Amino acid sequence: MKKPQSSVGLFSNPQQRRFRRSLLAWYDRHRRDLPWRATRDPYRVWLSEIMLQQTRVAAVIEHYQEFLRLFPTIDKLAAAREASVLAAWSGLGYYRRARRLHAAAKIIVREHGEKFPPTAEGLQALPGIGRYTAAAIASIAFDEPVAVVDGNVERVLQRVAGKRLAGEPLWQAANHLLDAKRPGDFNQAMMELGATVCTPRTPGCLTCPVIELCATRGVLAATVKPVRQKKREIHYALNCLNGEVFLVQRARDASLMPGMWELPELASRNGASPSFTLRHSITATDYTVRVWQNAAPSGVDGKWIPMERLGKVALTGLAGKILRKAGMLD
Ligand code: SF4
Repeated sequence: MKKPQSSVGLFSNPQQRRFRRSLLAWYDRHRRDLPWRATRDPYRVWLSEIMLQQTRVAAVIEHYQEFLRLFPTIDKLAAAREASVLAAWSGLGYYRRARRLHAAAKIIVREHGEKFPPTAEGLQALPGIGRYTAAAIASIAFDEPVAVVDGNVERVLQRVAGKRLAGEPLWQAANHLLDAKRPGDFNQAMMELGATVCTPRTPGCLTCPVIELCATRGVLAATVKPVRQKKREIHYALNCLNGEVFLVQRARDASLMPGMWELPELASRNGASPSFTLRHSITATDYTVRVWQNAAPSGVDGKWIPMERLGKVALTGLAGKILRKAGMLD
């Protein structure tokens, strides 16, 4: 491999051109047919990017179209009640994203005449839009030549370079490699390659469009230990009476899922059998969730909610899972 011509570039200029050509030709043939790829409307691109943060593609596909059915335009979203936005977000988790999405929609309508700022810099001034999301929207919806770096792009670049890259040098390398004529497609192609071919554990190098330019052709030797999942047991009371379920609301200033509804938590119980048990994982913790029917603790501040209204309540992901398992929610 020839020496790179720039301190931030991974390749010589001809190699760079080959990389872009090979990657884009592969993307044109093999890209997944995802609903948000059929549009360059910044509202739809933005919504998909926010939903895809920390959420699997399959789960986003389930919620994206329904969210757009409820809020088809930025002004409809801006005018909605927060409780309706959170209820539509139910099942995607990390509800702070939905609150910020709602706040940003109001600013775009009120201060920008319903038009998205067309540059990554302008977009980053909005709530919930960081460097990655701003670059994704600006490149896909407005053709601005700015590179994205997410976990997939980082892995591909490191393997292609054959070395660890982080922080600003990583962003510079991504920007240097970007195809300025098709920035949105190039960014999506890099992410697609990382998601479908250059995967974390078993990269499919034999089908990789850039194998000839890759320094690693496999997994880069690990330098950090994988994070071990913590295990925790947690108990909840599921109280039902006359077609209503007893729920409690999380504090409005809670750091996680503020204002969302859930089942009342119980102290751990020994020697008896719960009504049912399920597993739930949140970031680095695996929970064993034990559910006790008709065991609500006394003196807890909560509300009886009719079962037919549960689908409209902003439930935590775990509360939704428990109620579905109990057959009270579709
Ligand atoms: Fe990743 Fe293998 Fe392609 Fe290199 S050759 S970018 S390691 S899939």
